[in-house]
Amino acid sequence: MTNPYLAEWTTEFNLPPFADLKDEDVKPAVEAALSDGRAAIKAIADNPEAPTFANTIEALEKADATLSKVLGAFYGMAGADTNDTRDALMREFSPMLSAYSSEITANAALFQRIETLWQERENLDLTDEQQRVLMLTRRSFVRSGAKLEGADKDRMAEIKSRLATLGTQFSQNLLADEREWFMELSEDDLEGLPQFVVDAARSAGEEKGAKGPVVTLSRSLITPFLQFSPRRDLREKAFRAWAARGENGNANDNREIAREILELREERARLLGYENFAAYKLETEMAKTPEHVRDLLMRVWAPAKEAAERDAAILSKMMAEDGVNGDLAPWDWRYYSGKRRKAEHDLDEAELKPYLQLDRMIEAAFTCANRLFGLEFEPLDVTTYHPDARAWNVTRNGKHMAVFIGDYFARGSKRSGAWCTAMRSQQKLEGDIRPIVLNVCNFAKPSKGEAALLSYDDARTLFHEFGHALHQMLSDVTYDSISGTSVARDFVELPSQLYEHWLEVPEVLEEFATHAVTGAPMPRDMLERLLAAQTYDQGFATVEYVSSALVDLEFHDGPAPKDPMKAQAEILAKIGMPKAITMRHATPHFAHIFSGDGYSSGYYSYMWSEVMDADAFEAFEETSPFDPVMAKRLEDNILSKGGSEDAEALYTAFRGRMPGVEALLKGRGLVAAE
Ligand SMILES: [Zn+2]
Repeated sequence: MTNPYLAEWTTEFNLPPFADLKDEDVKPAVEAALSDGRAAIKAIADNPEAPTFANTIEALEKADATLSKVLGAFYGMAGADTNDTRDALMREFSPMLSAYSSEITANAALFQRIETLWQERENLDLTDEQQRVLMLTRRSFVRSGAKLEGADKDRMAEIKSRLATLGTQFSQNLLADEREWFMELSEDDLEGLPQFVVDAARSAGEEKGAKGPVVTLSRSLITPFLQFSPRRDLREKAFRAWAARGENGNANDNREIAREILELREERARLLGYENFAAYKLETEMAKTPEHVRDLLMRVWAPAKEAAERDAAILSKMMAEDGVNGDLAPWDWRYYSGKRRKAEHDLDEAELKPYLQLDRMIEAAFTCANRLFGLEFEPLDVTTYHPDARAWNVTRNGKHMAVFIGDYFARGSKRSGAWCTAMRSQQKLEGDIRPIVLNVCNFAKPSKGEAALLSYDDARTLFHEFGHALHQMLSDVTYDSISGTSVARDFVELPSQLYEHWLEVPEVLEEFATHAVTGAPMPRDMLERLLAAQTYDQGFATVEYVSSALVDLEFHDGPAPKDPMKAQAEILAKIGMPKAITMRHATPHFAHIFSGDGYSSGYYSYMWSEVMDADAFEAFEETSPFDPVMAKRLEDNILSKGGSEDAEALYTAFRGRMPGVEALLKGRGLVAAE
């Protein structure tokens, strides 16, 4: 029987036949796909005909069709629903895949063909998109070491393979530390916690096989616990466990892994002729240089720190009034900040929560996409990889645009955080291929028969990931390699962060924020308080984030630190990190920059994108949030374009100019709006 991973998928929309995909089939499928890929690459490199765009670049685009198909389905599932077998497979695949891609970029005959095309590019009569794909292909070969020879070349392959292994190890250690720890709560310990936190703690207790409710290190449980529990001792214990992920001196310790990763990255950059890893990494970004990044971060740091220090003084006073001796500590901030928010904005998360139902928020995200881009969403009755994951057929004017899968609830088998991934990307080279797009979140699962309720942050996460999904679903390019979210890292968060703004449009909340029990819409004054509260505590949030981004940048801009923990402490001391705030992601659990290369020297990019999203949404505010002309400009110049043009050119085409930092500072309430 044919391996179901490799067979032609005759399902509706050629979805992976999830029910037939067995873990034991994955490895043989990957091996077969790799051997197909190798044969295709060899045929391109050995082709006796002179290189053409079609027989070289387009052939390369097609070479990994089987591999993409198998890995798209497998990694899409494994990220959201892993087990020991899948963990082991991922550990085994990462060096295999890294070796395979090194083999391709180290193929001298192949690179020679690309180089020839590059030299002749002016005479090849290429479309703009083809020119761009040629430039990107050649650049990625050069950056992978295609021009290296001899010992340097071997060393580069070794470094890449070792980095891939270390990255996987880093995530698995982190997940293991997150899974292992929980804190049992007695009935007395539940005092002061709103019902939704109690429910989440009980359901987590059941999942852990504990006798009663527990707090786990899942962000959707620990964050509200830190916010609501009046028990300072329990908050401290939970916070310390949260902050110590990856740093417990057990088998999951990530500190030595982080050190080795930084050292290897520097060596890699130097082999390629760059001064350091940041210089290498930022070359392909919209920011271009470490100086531009540092400049942006420091312009935001100063007003953020001032705001956080003003807030810390107020919270310290509240704590003293509570009769607590000592300094405001990181495990106190969320608790007193929540109380202050209630006092100043009278916004009670617990009161708010029944109005934010998961299903209504999904509907809200869909409806905004319908009003802006004409997309329609029809539930699909298909078996996915997990009973909690739901699928929709996405159409426009009757034309199929994408399959969208939403997998929203937390579970032990899912890695933490929220993300968007495509099991298949849009492209037109091999027919009109439409994407399969996944949004995965970690919202607390409700008890049986209850409606799933979100915090406002959860709802924003839902809109954020859906913005990434739109970037995939509206993609309209020819080549897979530049499809959808295949753009510069500091540009990729623009569509997602921009989409969050539609959640803040009052008419959207008016329609979709309805009470789970009574069905009544959110009272007008609550809605106004909610929106006014959005700039609340932004000093804290910005300090948490910018400190992480600066540590990431300094780690990579210069020689690799011998002792990253010491270097981290020095960087924080230098910028004057407020005592009661910690980095959003400290080194031993900074998965963004250590689980892979994705955000290394690139964590700043969320803020870079925020500069743009604040500025871009202003374009809608100048007319109307659902202005069809502006929506079309957004789709035509950004959402449909993938990486087919330079990010700066795309943004300028949409907005007519580049943005400054002012709209962001205003949006975060860090400077007064005029
Ligand atoms: Zn994102």
